[in-house]
Amino acid sequence: MKVAVFSTKAYDRQFLEAANPQNQHELVFFEPRLDRDTAILATGFPAVCVFVHDRADAPTLELLASQGTRLIALRCAGFNNVDLKAAAELGITVVRVPAYSPYAVAEHTVGLILSLNRKIHRAHSRVREGNFSIEGLLGFDLNGRTVGIIGTGKIGQIVGQILKGFGCHLLTYDVYRNPAVEKLGAKYVELSELFANSDIITLHCPLTPQTHHLINTEAIQQMKQGIMLINTSRGALIDTTAVIEGLKSGKIKYLGIDVYEQESDLFFEDLSEKIIQDDIFQRLITFPNVLITGHQAFFTEEALRNISETTVANISDFEQGRPCQNEIAAQQKVAAKV
Ligand code: NAD
Repeated sequence: MKVAVFSTKAYDRQFLEAANPQNQHELVFFEPRLDRDTAILATGFPAVCVFVHDRADAPTLELLASQGTRLIALRCAGFNNVDLKAAAELGITVVRVPAYSPYAVAEHTVGLILSLNRKIHRAHSRVREGNFSIEGLLGFDLNGRTVGIIGTGKIGQIVGQILKGFGCHLLTYDVYRNPAVEKLGAKYVELSELFANSDIITLHCPLTPQTHHLINTEAIQQMKQGIMLINTSRGALIDTTAVIEGLKSGKIKYLGIDVYEQESDLFFEDLSEKIIQDDIFQRLITFPNVLITGHQAFFTEEALRNISETTVANISDFEQGRPCQNEIAAQQKVAAKV
């Protein structure tokens, strides 16, 4: 099948080509993001492959459909950037990669916790400059601390497993209970109880209308003084302005994020020679107790291999007319029945 791959980076090309032996599909790589202006690049391509910052809104999908596209293959799990209703109306099938390596994101989450706590990033800079003072690098033992995990699906569960190994107590909140997480000794509680009793709070639920700005002024007020807040899920789970106020007052003592509400203007690009216009982001990076990575939690060899292999298999299923278990509409029908 002829596939237009948008938002291509060198690593996308490397892993997708490796997953497509004998050129089973004709992959054509485009660097620009998909949007209304770039959709024309996909003229005559029955399949379009997109990532998190590509915008498949209704007008873009209409353009793609008029040019012959019948399949959108997301090479990620989240699909908040695709207008599913418009796709269904236009007869475009949408497939995704629901799981590729929950370990990748969970391990990065724990990496942020450890780095923030022991200030490893700051210590590294000091040592490089010949400053061996440890003043200001004081951390705390994770052993015995209480971690609140919001969202205990695939990633939240592994975060719980790892932190259990550190000797942490686990408080959890989810709309469904995960028995594997309960087996770890985690206690499911209401959000208010999780906020009030956690030393560290880490977010692993999807971005939905219900979870948008889950961490806002009211939530922060309920938290312990000196909380560590971690978000490797989606930026808009956090009201960034409220979190900045929390950091200024000292209520939030540490913030570690791999995702940011307005990240699509920044992340995945080298802007080192440009003037960043986002004042909220610029304020965030002035805090010494804030650690930001640019949406790289998923970025391991295993995850990229799984993403590419599943994407190619999804495209093959569609081409051969086989039912695809990763078709979003089909998954939503199954979820609605549960
Ligand atoms: P998952 O579907 O396995 O788990 C999500 C959990 O959130 C489920 O248990 C679900 O019941 C729960 N949930 C849904 N609505 C909720 C609500 N209102 N309140 C509390 N919990 C709720 O997904 P996953 O694979 O564990 O991924 C979690 C999130 O991680 C994804 O939604 C995605 O946004 C993010 N993610 C980030 C990266 C990255 O590179 N930073 C990579 C992959 C995924």
